[in-house]
Amino acid sequence: MIAEEKVAEVRERTDIVALIGEYVALKRAGSSFKGLCPFHAEKTPSFHVHPSRQFFHCFGCGASGDAISFISRLEGRTFPEAVRLLAERAGVEIPMESEQDDAEYRRARQRKERLASLMDSAAGYFVAQLAEHPLKQMAVDCFLERSITEETAATFRLGYAPHGWDGLVNHLAKEGWSAADAEELGLVVPRRSRDGYYDRFRHRLMFPITDLHGRIIAFSGRALPVPPSERDEGRDPPAKYVNSPEGPLYHKGDVLYGLYESRVTARRECEIILCEGNFDVVAMHQGGFGNTVAPMGTALTENQAKLLRRFADRAVLVFDGDAAGAKAIRSAFPLLQKVGLQARVAAMPPKADPDSFLREKGAEELRKLVTGAPGIVEHLIDSAALDSVGADARTKAEMIMELGVILAKVDNPVEVGIYIERVGRKFGIADLESVRRQLRKGARRQGRNRRSDRSVRGDVQKSADAPAPVRPLEHSLDLEMISVFLDQPVLFSEPVAKELAELLTSAVLQSMFHSAASMVSKLGRIDASSLMEETGDAAAKRWLERRLAIQQYDESEARRAVRDGLPRLARKKIEEELPRLQSSILDARRRGENALAQELTERHMALFRSAKDLMQGIKR
Ligand SMILES: [Zn+2]
Repeated sequence: MIAEEKVAEVRERTDIVALIGEYVALKRAGSSFKGLCPFHAEKTPSFHVHPSRQFFHCFGCGASGDAISFISRLEGRTFPEAVRLLAERAGVEIPMESEQDDAEYRRARQRKERLASLMDSAAGYFVAQLAEHPLKQMAVDCFLERSITEETAATFRLGYAPHGWDGLVNHLAKEGWSAADAEELGLVVPRRSRDGYYDRFRHRLMFPITDLHGRIIAFSGRALPVPPSERDEGRDPPAKYVNSPEGPLYHKGDVLYGLYESRVTARRECEIILCEGNFDVVAMHQGGFGNTVAPMGTALTENQAKLLRRFADRAVLVFDGDAAGAKAIRSAFPLLQKVGLQARVAAMPPKADPDSFLREKGAEELRKLVTGAPGIVEHLIDSAALDSVGADARTKAEMIMELGVILAKVDNPVEVGIYIERVGRKFGIADLESVRRQLRKGARRQGRNRRSDRSVRGDVQKSADAPAPVRPLEHSLDLEMISVFLDQPVLFSEPVAKELAELLTSAVLQSMFHSAASMVSKLGRIDASSLMEETGDAAAKRWLERRLAIQQYDESEARRAVRDGLPRLARKKIEEELPRLQSSILDARRRGENALAQELTERHMALFRSAKDLMQGIKR
């Protein structure tokens, strides 16, 4: 738990315009700022940031909040993670629960920072070798073959791990890094025969793997052709990929290559593209698909699927057009379904991968394929049907049963009905009842796992679901007066504030006005997120969310609006009040409560007098 005051301090010391400005190009619009929303795709800006209220709101998709919620949403962080990240940025120390925890936390963090700097130094070395090493041309040729530009290589910090045994070992020693740390990170390996270490990555193209902060946590090294001087018929060719072993920074099942570079685009488009290899990711980004990631040379894991879900609602799978690619799609399906990611499949032609497709057909063709990609279940049905061509009846029946396992994971009965019809059509079976029976047989095989699937998805969706619809606050003069005060908080300390407070009839508006007034007297300004927190009423919250993102009145307009509005509001109140008082007086008389009747009559007269005064005031 982070102390409430610390959270407030972090919020206070973070300049929300500067922070959001790192992700969104903001333009000044009056006293607030405007830009294209990072949480949905749009062409005209409807995303507003209000500096003094420390608040953002999008009129397009309804996203809103403060600096902490902005970072946690955009970067896919939990609340405490986001607070700590902003605390570091703003130079706010956040102590742990006890001094011992504090010291341990600091030690662990310092160690992680040290290891990350070591990785960074290694990446710098590999990048430099790409420009300097005598054998660099083999690496450069490999990029040229794939049309990877220098700019793209620089964005992903691609490098070359030189041929030989101790290039990196010597570099790290010269820079004063500990060999034990380098060994722990898997960059170097202890020699068996004598003291010292040798490089793990030799004569390879190097892809640095980053975490969500953009810090390097591992490397993936791709084999290059063996240099002529080293060719030896007897030796096995090197492994195509060598990745860093798991260690203090890196757990391969939790990391997606390219996620750091993709996070902003993925968030904005609510969609992420998943492919298989590092080169695919790099080529896709270069081709304008800035939301492309890949798992680390393994099948997609559940943690990776959850990670994807933090950045997108939809995934498009662009896997290789071979048997392994088809298998990868099948195994990704239940995981994507489990976390509630809507998946589609852009099928590559046989033998193609996204990287080769881009070179041969171009980005536009790939864009068409991605846009028109069918749902993953349709894809799985269609490709099973295609595989079944020429198979005997028994094999076909078995294949349909396997599709039943897939359909068992679909909750929506209408969708299931459409899929059953599709299976019948694609397999050429007219009797849908027998198709259904066969599918059900397959579903029963899997039936037991189903309940747990659903509960996991429920968890994920809970946070993403939109709140229940709220009937909006009706626009009224009362509300307009409050919004004038919100725009010019100086009015809260003037006599008009008391007048307005007495005129507000609805309890919701009264409490909203009082919260704002006491906030201004305490802080000297309106803090949007605290004001919304204090407001219990959902409709009022919704109204505040939209209203606090913009500023309509400057000071002289505000004063004019109050001067005109308050008397009108007073008259409205009196007009509503007089007939009500009159009937209460009659009631009281009828019941014989004369004292009450008398009191009400006096109030009636007083009100009547002030109504007259007001009318004269308006006329003047
Ligand atoms: Zn938006």
